[in-house]
Amino acid sequence: NDAILQVKDLRISFSTYAGEVQAVRGASFDLRRGETLAIVGESGSGKSVAARSIMRLNPPANTLVRGGEILFEGEDILKHSERRMQGIRGPKIAMVFQDPMTSLDPTMRVGRQISESLTKHLGMKGRRATERAVELLKLVGIPNAEERVKQYPHQFSGGMRQRVVIAIALSCDPQILIADEPTTALDVTIQAQILDLMRELQDRIGTSIILITHDLGVVASTAHRVAVMYGGRIVETGTVREIFYNPQMPYTWGLLASIPLPNADRSQELIPIPGTPPNALDPPKGCPFTARCPYAMKVCEGEMPDKTTFSNEHWAACWLHHPMAPKGEPPVRVRG
Ligand code: SF4
Ligand code: MG
Repeated sequence: NDAILQVKDLRISFSTYAGEVQAVRGASFDLRRGETLAIVGESGSGKSVAARSIMRLNPPANTLVRGGEILFEGEDILKHSERRMQGIRGPKIAMVFQDPMTSLDPTMRVGRQISESLTKHLGMKGRRATERAVELLKLVGIPNAEERVKQYPHQFSGGMRQRVVIAIALSCDPQILIADEPTTALDVTIQAQILDLMRELQDRIGTSIILITHDLGVVASTAHRVAVMYGGRIVETGTVREIFYNPQMPYTWGLLASIPLPNADRSQELIPIPGTPPNALDPPKGCPFTARCPYAMKVCEGEMPDKTTFSNEHWAACWLHHPMAPKGEPPVRVRG
């Protein structure tokens, strides 16, 4: 087993005035050494909550861990003390968020922000830390790094700021990098450059990456494996090829139909999947996609489908694969 991280049957809720919001409802996946695993789904599918659980960054006051475990280095992260987490968050597992400004301090020079992280986690100080900061800016492809370390975040473009955030995330050589919609706030050209950078850094330093995204286009160019998340559950998992060329679950078909063809004009409207995600305050008993699924059957509503396995890597949870299910229409394909 070469998994560096295993998430098993994770259940995370939030207590709110309206009641208990069941954000993650039994999600299981593992991350292998050196791979990029994409977790894909619409907003509200639970993907960010699952990712933040790995860092233990969900708000402690109202987060309820309802079950499951997150195994890292042979231990359950969910059971660690906050103090213990401080030795993991940053040096072992680092995170990059959608908006680089949330992770940067606007009042502090960029070089100092990097060297502070080096001091805090690695005890590196003075000239050595500054030199390392310059090296890290070079590593993430920022030109004139010697000059740039002295500048403030507002002197960087959005794409360059995200590179700085990635430099900080990588400063302590983490084993795992979690990137939550790292390119969503950027325009398409810059987006591609950041994704190229992440791929290149992975080849070079071997970090295992969890990439959270709603955009299957991002997945195709960056990930090795994909976990599709819906209504707080993982509903299909496979290699990128399997998910793109042989998807088995209607929600995945819908996601694929909503990405533009490779040569299509990017400004063209995507076709969203009609309907809204399930109510996390009162989640459905059966398949979470029932209310929006064009293939839904009676059984879908009442009972959660088991996983059906299609290869070593590929499974989906959908009643269409039950031997007694009526045969549905063929899946929607993106490419012929
Ligand atoms: Fe659709 Fe039923 Fe499959 Fe869910 S289990 S995706 S509702 S066919
Ligand atoms: Mg999110």
